[in-house]
Amino acid sequence: MSEFKQLIGGKLVDGAREMDVVNPATGKPFAKCPVADEAQLNEAVAAAKAAFPAWAARSQDERAEMIVKLADALAEQTADLSRLLTSEQGKPLDQAGIELMICGYTLKAFAGMRIEPRTIQENEKSKVYEIRKPLGVVAAITPWNFPLMMAVHKLGPALLAGNTVVLKPAATTPLTTLKFGEICQKIFPAGVVNVICDQNDLGDKLTGHPDVDKISFTGSTATGKKVMEAASRAVKRVTLELGGNDAAIVLDDVDPVETAQKIFQAVMANAGQVCLAVKRAYVPAAMYDVFCDELARLAGLAVVDEGTQQGAQIGPVQNKMQYEKLKGLLESAKLEGKIIAGGNAVDRDGYFIEPTIVRDVDDSARIVREEQFGPVLPVLRYEEIEDVLARANDSDYGLGGSVWGTDIERATKIAERVQSGTVWVNQHMGLAPNIPFRGAKQSGMGTELGQEGLNEFTQATVVNVKLG
Ligand code: NAD
Repeated sequence: MSEFKQLIGGKLVDGAREMDVVNPATGKPFAKCPVADEAQLNEAVAAAKAAFPAWAARSQDERAEMIVKLADALAEQTADLSRLLTSEQGKPLDQAGIELMICGYTLKAFAGMRIEPRTIQENEKSKVYEIRKPLGVVAAITPWNFPLMMAVHKLGPALLAGNTVVLKPAATTPLTTLKFGEICQKIFPAGVVNVICDQNDLGDKLTGHPDVDKISFTGSTATGKKVMEAASRAVKRVTLELGGNDAAIVLDDVDPVETAQKIFQAVMANAGQVCLAVKRAYVPAAMYDVFCDELARLAGLAVVDEGTQQGAQIGPVQNKMQYEKLKGLLESAKLEGKIIAGGNAVDRDGYFIEPTIVRDVDDSARIVREEQFGPVLPVLRYEEIEDVLARANDSDYGLGGSVWGTDIERATKIAERVQSGTVWVNQHMGLAPNIPFRGAKQSGMGTELGQEGLNEFTQATVVNVKLG
C-alpha cells in the first residue's frame, strides 16, 4: 500500500487503484501513488461543495492566518519536500529548495492581500460600488514542471478569496502535491482543500463537473483548448496559463559575452522546462558568432547529472514522453541548422538531454516554431530591428519575451512592442506574487498572481443604490 494518500473531505485516503511514479533520473519507478476513480473525484467535489458556505463565511483575516500556517509548515518540511520533488521531477536539489521557498513567500504574499469593496460613483443621487464574492468550488489543475509552485499560485488566492479547492497534479509528479495535501489536512477545515490523483484521465471529468464553479488550469495549449471547451458548456470561470515560446531580442549595444551568459541561465533553468524560459534568441549579425560561441562554451561546461548529486546544474527532463519529443526535435534540428553544442540524449539511464545550442537556423524550423520545453536554444541572426520584432511576434504564443540593451530607454521602447503578457528588459523570467502574470494569444487567458490574479477567484457584483 502506498505511503502517499489523497485528501478527500478532510481524510487521507487510498486511491481506487495505484500507479508507479518514475524517477526521471533513472527511468525506474521509485514509489507508488494512489489514483482516484470517478467516484472519488465526485466525493472530492462534493466535500468541497459542502465545505464552501462555512469557509466563505469566515473573515479574510481568519483565512489568511491559515494560509500563513501553511507557508510555515512548508518551510519546516523544506528538506524532505525538496528531496521528494527532485526524485519525482528531476530538478537539482538547490532548484527544488528554491521552488519551496517561492511557495512560502507566495502564500504569505497572498495572505497579505485583501479583497475590498470599490466605490464606482457617489453623489447625492446615487451610490454605486462593487463587491467581490468567492465563486465556490475551484478545480486547480497543475503541470509537471513546477508541481508545488503551480499549486500555490492557485490555492493561495482561491482560499483567501473564500473558495474551496479540488487540486489535481499531473500524473507524473503527484507526490509532493500529496504531501502538500497532508499538510493542508492539519490546517484547514475538512473539505476546504482536497487533493486527488489521476493517470491523465480525470481532467475532463473534473472540468466538466456541474459543481465545479471555476477552473484554474496550467499546462499545455493543446490541453488548455479542451479545458476552455469544457468550461464553455456551463460558462464556467476559467483561467488558463499555457505554453510559451519566448523570444529574447539582443540589441547591438550589449556586451555579447555577458548577455549570452545571462540568457543561458534563462534557457537552462529546470532543464528548460519553464513556460517562461527563453526558447529563441535573436542576435545582431555583427555579434552573432561571438554570442553563439559563448553559449556553446557554457553548454559544454554545464554539469548534467542526477538532481541529488552535488554540483548538478541540469537534471533530466521530467518524463519519457517529453524526452522522446525532444529527441525528435533534435533530429529535426540537425537538418535545420548547425548544432554547436550537445544535440543528443546523454548515453545513460534516465531522461537526460545534452544542453544544446543550434545556430544558422531560420524561423520556419521546428526547433524555432515549437515550444521545445527542454535544455535547447536556437539562435537566430538579424540585421534590422523592425524585421526582428516582426519575426519575434510571428508566433501563436505570447507568454513572455525580453529585450537586452545598454540604452535602457531604447530597449524599453522596443520591449513595449513585443506581443506577450510579460516582457522583460535586461532580465528574463522574473515573477513575483504582487506582479500580475498572464499570457497573450494562445499562451493563456486571464491572470494569475497580483491583485488581479486574486480577483479572478471572485465574482464581482455592482450594487447600484438610488438615494433620496
Ligand atoms: P498538460 O497540458 O499535458 O497537462 C497539464 C495538466 O492537465 C495535468 O494535470 C493533466 O493531467 C491535465 N489534463 C490532461 N488532460 C486534461 C483535460 N482534458 N482536461 C483537464 N485537464 C487535463 O501539460 P504538461 O505537459 O503537464 O505541462 C507542460 C506545459 O505546461 C507546457 O506547455 C508549459 O509551457 C505549460 N506551463 C505553463 C505555465 C504558465 O504559467 N503559463 C506554467 C508552467 C507550465
